[in-house]
Amino acid sequence: RAKGLGGRRVEVFAAHMHADAVRRLEIAADLQRALLEKQFVIEYQPIVDLATNRVTAVEALVRWCRGGTFVPPEQFLDAAEETGLIVPLSEWILTEACGEVATWRASSWDIGLALNLSKRQITAPGFVETISAALADSGLPPSALTLEVIEEMLVEDAGDTVEKLSELRELGVRLAIDDFGTGYASLAFLRQLPVDMIKIDPSFVTGLGRDETLTLLTRTIVRLGHDLGLTVVAEGIERPEQLELLREMGCSRGQGYLVARPMGAQGVDSLMRTNLTSLQNTA
Ligand code: C2E
Ligand code: MG
Ligand code: MG
Ligand code: MG
Repeated sequence: RAKGLGGRRVEVFAAHMHADAVRRLEIAADLQRALLEKQFVIEYQPIVDLATNRVTAVEALVRWCRGGTFVPPEQFLDAAEETGLIVPLSEWILTEACGEVATWRASSWDIGLALNLSKRQITAPGFVETISAALADSGLPPSALTLEVIEEMLVEDAGDTVEKLSELRELGVRLAIDDFGTGYASLAFLRQLPVDMIKIDPSFVTGLGRDETLTLLTRTIVRLGHDLGLTVVAEGIERPEQLELLREMGCSRGQGYLVARPMGAQGVDSLMRTNLTSLQNTA
């Protein structure tokens, strides 16, 4: 049948492949240059204790400052992962963020750093050593660092992911499951994992007070997390009603535009200096 359709299909397909390959090479070159020219910036989004409003940690979120505009991570992380440039990029983020948070801690502010990990970063040689070296060099205590992974990375366990993360956890580093509820980690599986924290995905949080099922699911995840001895963080809090319900459910921590938006290091600096280490505008 394929033969009957003739060579035209093949040609179209090949042209497609070609355009795709060229585009990828372009992105690879762009990213490489961006890395050399230090066009990446880290924004930090506060995570608060829902009982006290105190900022307990900041999550590092990378942006590409390309010709004056901020490119969101979704638009370049896949390409960075495919080209392998995610490895040096992640190393830069790690060093930079550990250094910055260590500086804030040196001003007697007891905050932690949450860092997103990529698949390729974990499987790259020397991953465990790179993290421990960054901690040692910055002076950030391991317990102040939380590594965020998605369920899929633990389930697939490529390149001994779970073993490497367990090694880091033994050093005192904490481990969080990001976007919890969207993947396929079973609850029984969760118990066997070296995890300290789950971050409830915004797709649940968004329905709080508006959708009965999502509200019930959120409540169930909070309870389950606590029963397993985990810290539960709700992500994507945008409305006061969500915050109220999460407090009522006893959810430990919260993150979202209503609490605080991601901000540059200077923003965190002034948060600290103006003594807004408790975000009161969240009630
Ligand atoms: P994530 O780790 O789940 O991060 C939370 C995302 O939700 C961030 O998007 C944040 O800006 C956004 N967000 C926070 N509060 C709200 C809210 O109230 N409403 C809405 N609509 N969004 C909110 P961002 O910065 O675009 O990052 C997207 C994803 O890219 C992250 O999801 C993470 O998976 C990945 N990422 C970001 N930075 C890094 C990094 O340094 N390394 C790696 N490997 N991945 C990163
Ligand atoms: Mg995250
Ligand atoms: Mg998330
Ligand atoms: Mg995500």
